[in-house]
Amino acid sequence: MNKRIYMASPTMHGDELKYIQEAFDTNWIAPLGPNVNHFEEELAAYLQEDMYCAALSSGTAALHLAVKLLNIKEQDTVLCSSFTFSASANPAAYERANLVFIDSEPDTWNMSPQALRKALIKYPDAKAVILVHLYGTPAKLDEIMEICREYNVPLIEDAAESLGATYKGRHTGCFGKYSALSFNGNKIITTSGGGMFLAHEKEEADKARYLATQAREPARHYEHVVLGYNYRMSNITAGIGRGQLHYIEEHIERKKAIYETYQKAFADLPVKMNPYDKDNSVPNFWLSCITINPESDVTPDQVMNALEAENIECRPLWKPMHLQPVFAECGFVTQLEADPKTEETGSVCEDLFRRGVTLPTDIKNTEEDMEKIIGIIRGLF
Ligand SMILES: *Cc1c(COP(=O)(O)O)cnc(C)c1O
Repeated sequence: MNKRIYMASPTMHGDELKYIQEAFDTNWIAPLGPNVNHFEEELAAYLQEDMYCAALSSGTAALHLAVKLLNIKEQDTVLCSSFTFSASANPAAYERANLVFIDSEPDTWNMSPQALRKALIKYPDAKAVILVHLYGTPAKLDEIMEICREYNVPLIEDAAESLGATYKGRHTGCFGKYSALSFNGNKIITTSGGGMFLAHEKEEADKARYLATQAREPARHYEHVVLGYNYRMSNITAGIGRGQLHYIEEHIERKKAIYETYQKAFADLPVKMNPYDKDNSVPNFWLSCITINPESDVTPDQVMNALEAENIECRPLWKPMHLQPVFAECGFVTQLEADPKTEETGSVCEDLFRRGVTLPTDIKNTEEDMEKIIGIIRGLF
């Protein structure tokens, strides 16, 4: 069997071990400790804004605490990108919110401002908007933020996939009232598993830390007034993150080179790369994707079968949340109306899901690996 070519696997550099060694040498193994504090500070410095960070056990935990801090309760309406990974939506569902999913626009594949406006006309009392920057591509932040301001609804940014991506020169994760980052194994940098809660006020990051450490009150005994969680990052894990953070720009450069290699190689094929707004944003190019033009006979399944036959990892695009059985009861708002005379649903993200393939974007893939992947795909058209 050929060696496996991965979509996105952890890339370690060795520096991570230095911080772990320090933790061992000082016996800071238990939760919290200097690596956690430093990782929070170093990440805030990387974002180059007055952000306050709370290091957590996962990106999902960060989104859950964002939902908790907005006091979202049963039956509160929460508007969330449909085209995403389930972790964007799950935390609001933990709190039994009324989730309504919002369609994508075709320019960045992220939340459609027009669909969001339609949803807010229908649900003017919505308690939050959860916006994802999918595949590391910034959403239309100006338009989305303007609509959120108009309806006075707080924005939660799910920047789990987009650490390092910028919109008009500012890092994603700095726009929302609260934001979430992820350091899961496949993300742009990893701690093996972990996440970060971001806020603009120190008190709010402190509140997240308090909820994340079982909501313990300042008393000698264990005193609890509200429900808490065990969501903090460990000192060992944070050490990996500190080491990885030195290499984030290098990771982004490699991801960008992969994206551009595919883009060039497929320029004459009936396919398109995942698009971004070149005038206003710089993605982190976390994953490279293609959609096959509707007029082509080649199907995404053919592409994926051909790659898998050579032990090359690939996947469809994210299956929209409004199509997931677990969210079958939830609402969905599109930019366009469905056409009752045809099969057309009017949904941009459904169309992308049907025509798309996520390509190997592992930064350890070699030039030969890239040539092989490209050769297999070109051979099908
Ligand atoms: C990875 C991811 C998350 C969750 O992060 P975990 O650290 O795995 O909990 C949330 N949203 C999106 C869009 C993701 O890709």
